[in-house]
Amino acid sequence: MTKKYAFISVFPEIFVPFSQSGIVKKATDSGLIQIKSFNPRDFLNNKDRIDDKVYGGGPGMVFKSEPIQKCINHTKDTFSGSSKVIHLSASGETFTAQTARELSKEDSLIFLSSRYEGLDQRLIDAEVDKEISIGDYVLTGGEIPSMVLLEAIIRFIDGAVGDEESVKNDSFENALLEHPQYTRPEKNELGEVPETLLSGNHDQIEKWKRKHSLGKTFIRRQDLIRQHDLNQEDIDQIKEFLSDLGYESDKIAELLSIFNNEN
Ligand code: SAM
Repeated sequence: MTKKYAFISVFPEIFVPFSQSGIVKKATDSGLIQIKSFNPRDFLNNKDRIDDKVYGGGPGMVFKSEPIQKCINHTKDTFSGSSKVIHLSASGETFTAQTARELSKEDSLIFLSSRYEGLDQRLIDAEVDKEISIGDYVLTGGEIPSMVLLEAIIRFIDGAVGDEESVKNDSFENALLEHPQYTRPEKNELGEVPETLLSGNHDQIEKWKRKHSLGKTFIRRQDLIRQHDLNQEDIDQIKEFLSDLGYESDKIAELLSIFNNEN
């Protein structure tokens, strides 16, 4: 069944090149997904504005609820179903691979982008199923976050990514960052491909990948590494990884003490 996605935005032209490139175009061409864009300005009465001043004072303008609500209703009618509405918002829950995986199961989603200071809260309360942020920073509109969400969601739809193994090995699957990757030539002016990867020894290669995955995650994302119940072999691999990087044994012991404290 074709999954249906809609972008609601006052700048629908932003989505045109996105929809016509790469994985999104491929998924559309193969009938896996359908994408539409709607402009809430098309639902304004003649001389109305899309925005107005904030009650209670304060800087900036807020999107009025009426045109947005009409646009959402029109989008739902177009998709003839119960589409979930996602408002992209800096104060929403932070987007993760897990959220993308869950949303990929929905048949139809509406990505609502606001601008200025955001949306009238009454519209959020009445029409929005989820508010999602793409990170702790503020952008000028929800359009780029909408595209971020859709691209991450599409990767979890069966058949959208050529080699589904590659999704399973991606960063954040199993709460680990991906190990480094190399391609031909084996040797160039920047260096050589690690010998193990050229060895043809499957067990050694898997061990190398896990060591680098664990090590990289340990250094960059302690929040992820703490989700693992690591065994002694894993801890030894992290030790080896740190030692390869030139860490002194005292420093390694100090860094690895997080595992002792948890026991
Ligand atoms: N006043 C809002 C606040 O402090 O949360 C910021 C409004 S921002 C200038 C305008 C719009 O950009 C937001 O309503 C939202 O749609 C979008 N936006 C900004 N940052 C975002 C983020 N980190 N994630 C998702 N959407 C974001």
